Amino acid sequence: MTRSKQDLLAENERLAKELLAPRADETDRARSFPRQNIRELGRSGLLGLLVPIEYGGAGAGIPEMAQVLERMGEACASTAMVTLMHYCGAAVVAARGSAALKQSLLPGVARGEHLTTLAFSEAGSGGHFYMPVSEVKRNGGGLYLTAHKTFVTSAGEADSYVISTRRAGASGPTELDLYLVQRETKGFEVGRPFEGLGLAANASAPMKLENVRVRDDQRLGSEGSGFQTMMEVVLPHFQVGVAAVSLGIATAAFQAASAHVVSRKYEHVGGAALAAIPRVQFLVAEMALELRSARAYLSETVRRVGAADPEAMLDVLGIKARAAEAALAIASRAMTLGGGAAYGRRGGLERMFRDAQAASVMAPSTDVLKEFLGKVCLGVPLF
Ligand SMILES: Cc1cc2nc3c(=O)[nH]c(=O)nc-3n(C[C@H](O)[C@H](O)[C@H](O)COP(=O)(O)OP(=O)(O)OC[C@H]3O[C@@H](n4cnc5c(N)ncnc54)[C@H](O)[C@@H]3O)c2cc1C
Repeated sequence: MTRSKQDLLAENERLAKELLAPRADETDRARSFPRQNIRELGRSGLLGLLVPIEYGGAGAGIPEMAQVLERMGEACASTAMVTLMHYCGAAVVAARGSAALKQSLLPGVARGEHLTTLAFSEAGSGGHFYMPVSEVKRNGGGLYLTAHKTFVTSAGEADSYVISTRRAGASGPTELDLYLVQRETKGFEVGRPFEGLGLAANASAPMKLENVRVRDDQRLGSEGSGFQTMMEVVLPHFQVGVAAVSLGIATAAFQAASAHVVSRKYEHVGGAALAAIPRVQFLVAEMALELRSARAYLSETVRRVGAADPEAMLDVLGIKARAAEAALAIASRAMTLGGGAAYGRRGGLERMFRDAQAASVMAPSTDVLKEFLGKVCLGVPLF
């Protein structure tokens, strides 16, 4: 039975509180893929949030996705990142998959039995993921894909992968195709996971596809339409989603630091709390302002995307950079206020500080986004 969007938001709140948050430190330290969290998110219907109703999903969109991911990011950022990449993959299949592909994949996603992800990044083009160097080749009647992907979230854990590549015979770097490849495919190999600074449990690893045979009906969209799909479908989901996860981390860090300064008391001044010191109050106020203004910008971005506002693209580019910077500033300040307890890895603040670093590195990185934003503001073509 399809659950309503409202039910799913309530279920997300319950799972965040009862399952994800209590295990977040342990999951981080063990660097273990959060399989049980993903299983429960699947059972609750949350993995099918973006799947259209006719395939058994909730038929929700970017506004609900942002709400879900922010709360999830507050509870366990590794789980939120796995879910975000799954949402991006599912959104591409729903928007560009053939009728047969959608019928074979989306009901399983809606039931929470199928996890997907994006495999875009390559060492050859780094953060410029929209210009892969891999290429699909036509040989005889078949299409063969050789691609060396890097930093893939849920590598080896997801059931399928949305893979970017230059189209067969491409004459330019942005003539792309996207293919959906199943994990069991012959010629598909997952490398050793990275030991990332943050998001330690998201199973980030390189992946190799060597001469993998793909069929035309695995392609998401018409031949050569991959770049357009990245811009129209992936970018809004990914940018808003990363921003939401960042703000979730920032919220958790703000709350942990606030709780710490209230509970930390000094015997040498008769039990007065850190929270009684004006400079501490000032720092907490600055964190609150940072958080609230970034959250307001996220709401405005979501509103503009929903209204198909012509300026939405500017905010889609801007929001990930803004939220990533807010998360970095708040988590860093929270570490300072957390003092020896935070430095000694008690209370989760140090995990949040490490998790907050990922968003500014994930492509498009904060600096690249600012280059894009500057170009949009000045009317200079992006590419
Ligand atoms: C936690 C995490 C999860 C990820 N998950 C996925 C995933 O699921 N799927 C996927 O495909 N990829 C994923 N990635 C990869 C990510 O999106 C980037 O592609 C990758 O981190 C790029 O690393 P790089 O060292 O090659 O970057 P580089 O391209 O070498 O960039 C290094 C630095 O140079 C700067 N730089 C580059 N060009 C410019 C410019 N024009 N102007 C200013 N500065 C510039 C960048 O800002 C960056 O700071 C993930 C990364 C992380 C950290």
